[in-house]
Amino acid sequence: MRRIGVMGGTFDPIHNGHLVAASEVAHRFRLDEVVFVPTGRPWQKLGGPGGDSAPTAESGSRPVSPAEDRYLMTVIATASNPRFSVSRVDIDRAGDTYTVDTLRDLKSLHPNAELYFITGADALESILSWQNWEELFELANFIGVSRPGYVLDAKHLAKHLTTLPEDTLQLLEIPALAISSTECRSRAASGRPVWYLVPDGVVQYIAKRRLYRTPRASSPGVS
Ligand code: ATP
Ligand code: MG
Repeated sequence: MRRIGVMGGTFDPIHNGHLVAASEVAHRFRLDEVVFVPTGRPWQKLGGPGGDSAPTAESGSRPVSPAEDRYLMTVIATASNPRFSVSRVDIDRAGDTYTVDTLRDLKSLHPNAELYFITGADALESILSWQNWEELFELANFIGVSRPGYVLDAKHLAKHLTTLPEDTLQLLEIPALAISSTECRSRAASGRPVWYLVPDGVVQYIAKRRLYRTPRASSPGVS
C-alpha cells in the first residue's frame, strides 16, 4: 500500500519550514510521496466561514495572493524532489477549503493509498477544534509537527478531543525553523531579503511577479 503524505497550506509563499516538515515526516514515516495542496479559499484567513464576515485582528484576515501564484511557487519549490508533488484539488474546487474535502478528493484519486496529513502545531489545534475530527481520522493519519512558538503536546490537544486516538494522531519533533509566510511577506513588502528562508526559485518568482509589494484591495483568484 502506498503511503502518501498530504501537506496542506496557503503557501503564500511556501518556505523552508514547510519543506523541512514534509521531508522529515517523509523520512520518519517512510512515505512514498508527499503531496503539497495549496488551499483554494482559505476562509480562516479571510475572516471566517464564507469569507464574508468582518476581518478581525485575531483571524489574521488579509488578502491572499492569487491561487495560481501560490500554486506555481509550490511547484517551483518542490520540483527538485522526486518524492514531492503538488495537487490542484483545493484550488480547483469552488468555495472554501475544508481539510475533509481535501482528504476525500485525494482518497478518491488514490483509493489504495494510506494518507498521512501533515500539519504544524498551530494548525493542528485549529483543525481539530473546528472540524469533525472523527471523520478526519477515518480518512487519514495525522502527523503534528513541532513549530517554534507553538506548543505541541498531547495534553494540550486533549482539550479538543474527548479521546486522543493514539494510532491515528502522532506528534513529531522536527528541526526548528522559525520561519512563517507572514514574516516572508512582510520582508518582501519592506524590501528586506527572503533569501534562504524560501527556495531560490521562489525568491525570484516573488520579485518577478512583484508579490507582497503593495496591499491588495481584493484577492483575485480566490473568489
Ligand atoms: P502564515 O504566516 O500566512 O499563516 P505559515 O507560515 O503559517 O503562513 P501556512 O501555509 O499557514 O504557513 O502553513 C501550512 C502548514 O505548514 C501548517 O500546517 C503549518 O502549521 C505548517 N508550518 C508552517 N510553517 C512551519 C514551520 N516553520 N515549522 C513547522 N510547520 C510549519
Ligand atoms: Mg499559518
